[in-house]
Amino acid sequence: MKTNCHYCGKEVIGRKGIKYCSANCKARAHIQKKEANLVEVVSQIDKILHHNRTILAELMGTHKQLTLPRLTLAKQNFDFNYITGIYQNNKGKFYYYVYDFAWMEFSSQDIMIVRK
Ligand SMILES: [Zn+2]
Repeated sequence: MKTNCHYCGKEVIGRKGIKYCSANCKARAHIQKKEANLVEVVSQIDKILHHNRTILAELMGTHKQLTLPRLTLAKQNFDFNYITGIYQNNKGKFYYYVYDFAWMEFSSQDIMIVRK
């Protein structure tokens, strides 16, 4: 069976289905694939965060602070699981940052958004 190494392109002679010329090439190909997957994962997270920030920016307009029904954000596919930071004030309330905006659960149904 003759083929070419999937990593370096060198000709490989061996059993049927062999992909790499050496253990080294196999390991390097595995690392390359992992790195490509990581870039894809980070890119997806960036997209969600930017989408969240766009929603907050559009809702806020020129307001410094705004309280809205949670549903208003949910309807625009705001993903509450993606934040860039967290802060607990002296009353124990958590603020969840999305870049230069922060939101908190004002009540069970309302979200308060603040601009930093
Ligand atoms: Zn190789």
